[in-house]
Amino acid sequence: MQKILLIHTGGTIGMEGETHLEPGHYATALVEQLPEYMGFAKIDSAILCNLDSSDIGPEQWSKLACMIAEHRSQYDGFIVVHGTDTMPYTASALAFALEGLDRPVVLTGAQRPLGALRNDARRNLADSIEVATLNIPEVSICFDGMLLRGCRSCKVNTRAYHAFDSPGCEPLAKLGVDITLGKHIRKPTAPFRCCPRFDARVMVIHITPGLQAELLCRLLEDDNRLDGIVLIPFGVGTIPCLNSHIASFVAQATARGIDVLVANASVGKIDLNLYENSQVLIDAGAISGGEMRLEAALVKLMHACATYSNHAERLEYLRWNVAGELE
Ligand code: ASP
Repeated sequence: MQKILLIHTGGTIGMEGETHLEPGHYATALVEQLPEYMGFAKIDSAILCNLDSSDIGPEQWSKLACMIAEHRSQYDGFIVVHGTDTMPYTASALAFALEGLDRPVVLTGAQRPLGALRNDARRNLADSIEVATLNIPEVSICFDGMLLRGCRSCKVNTRAYHAFDSPGCEPLAKLGVDITLGKHIRKPTAPFRCCPRFDARVMVIHITPGLQAELLCRLLEDDNRLDGIVLIPFGVGTIPCLNSHIASFVAQATARGIDVLVANASVGKIDLNLYENSQVLIDAGAISGGEMRLEAALVKLMHACATYSNHAERLEYLRWNVAGELE
C-alpha cells in the first residue's frame, strides 16, 4: 500500500462554524472523516501550524520544504492542507525549494469547512489522496476536480468552488469519472536537493497609468534594504515612456545590484523585444519572467536572492525553467 504524509498548515478546510471561523480540526480529524480511504493508502498526518494562510510566508515555506525533504524517502506522496488565499505562493515556494522532486506534493484546501453542509473539503481531500499516489512528480494544487501546476496557479474566485486556475498551462490532471493525466507532466531533470531559503526583501511593483517614477526612486534611497523587484508591466512588457522616468528607475535599481524580474499580469509570455516601450526594460537590465505570473515570479526571485549571492548565478537560475514556471 502506498504511504502518504498529510501535513496540516491551516485554512478554512479545518475551521469550525460558518460565520466565525476558528481553527478547530486538525489533520488527524480530517483523515478520520474519510474512512474509506484508510484501506486505499496508509495516511500519516503531521501538523506544521494552524494558520490562516495570510500568515504563511517564507518561514513556513522553509519549514514545510524541510519537513518534506526529511520524510521524502519514507512516503510515496505528500498532501499539504492549506488555506486558499496564499496557496499558489506556497506551491511555488515548494516547487523551487524541492529541486528534482521525484514524487507528488499536492496542496489542497476548501472554500467551505469539512464540518459544513455542501462543503467542497471532502472531495478536494479525497481527490488529493488519490493523486498523491500517482506518478506526478510535481508540486500541484488539487481543487474542484482539477490538478494544477502549483507554480502556474492563481486564485481566481473567492466565492466559487472553482477557486483556482493555471492560465496558459493545461491542468496536470482532470478528475472526473476517470482521471485524465496531462502529457506535459514533468519528470525530474536534476538530482533531488532541498534549498529552503527565501529572501523577504523582494517586492512587487505594479505599473499603472500615471505612476510617478519619483515615488519609486525613494525605494532606492537605502540601498541595503531591497534585494529584488518583481515588475508587473502592461501587456507583454510595456511601460510608460513618454514623460515618465520608470525605465531610468529600473536602470538605477539594476545598477545597485537589485534584480528586476518582469512578470505577467495576464495570460501569455513576456516579450521585451516586441515594442520600443518594452525594449527599454532590456536596456535597463531587467530580466524577462516568461509566462510567470506574480505569485511564481515573486517567490522565485525571493528564492534566487536567498540561494545565490553571485549575480551571474542568480541570472542563470532565473532563466532556468525550474518547475515549468517559464513556459
Ligand atoms: N482565509 C483562508 C485562508 O487562506 C481562506 C481559505 O482557506 O479558503 O487561510
